[in-house]
Amino acid sequence: MLIERSQRGVIRHTGTVYGKSVEGNPLTVWLPETNKPDILVLASIHGDEAETTVVLSDALRSISPDGLKNAVILCGNVDGLARGTRGNARGVDLNRNFPTANWLPEPVYYKSRRNEPQDITLSPGECPASEPETKALLSLLEQLKPRAVVTLHSALACIDDADGSVLGRLLAQKTGLPLEVGVGYATPGSFGSWASEQNLNLVTYEFEAASPYDLKERHTPVLIDVLTGKVDL
Ligand SMILES: [Zn+2]
Repeated sequence: MLIERSQRGVIRHTGTVYGKSVEGNPLTVWLPETNKPDILVLASIHGDEAETTVVLSDALRSISPDGLKNAVILCGNVDGLARGTRGNARGVDLNRNFPTANWLPEPVYYKSRRNEPQDITLSPGECPASEPETKALLSLLEQLKPRAVVTLHSALACIDDADGSVLGRLLAQKTGLPLEVGVGYATPGSFGSWASEQNLNLVTYEFEAASPYDLKERHTPVLIDVLTGKVDL
């Protein structure tokens, strides 16, 4: 089920292109041989959270092709990751571009450094699901119909799970990160809000602020368990 350590330098699973970014770059998902994943794990929907891609890749490269039981997107925002920006090539925060009842056209604000005001502006898109990256992800979810989604972010150091699901509690237990249930603030157009409207179990897995070396120590084993189907739903 696990690949010999010396052979973990390349991805040995076959990826499937599920869409294209604004710039025409491929969006890739790695699927289990059954093509029927229970869980989809997604990294770097925010392009400035590259450590989530690095650690998720470390987990994927540790698993033999027949050991992969769930679906992996190493980067949901390939143009943003290539630019080092939170938003996509058009400056849209993809995590505010989902077609939710509470979607808002107003700018969204974030902070990129600790102890700074949250005043850096991005767009939620011209309309819900205006961006090709969002549309492609929605189509993929429609096709795969996973029972749960785990989205990786950094660096709030928590497991944020609106429902307090079995999966969320298990991830909190395995990582030692605090479980935040039903965080009080509204996030219009977020993937989490959309999933909640669809009755889809979505767990936001926020890494702590640390180097990829340190993050791998703590999170690669947990992600291997998720990808090999060793977690209950
Ligand atoms: Zn994020």
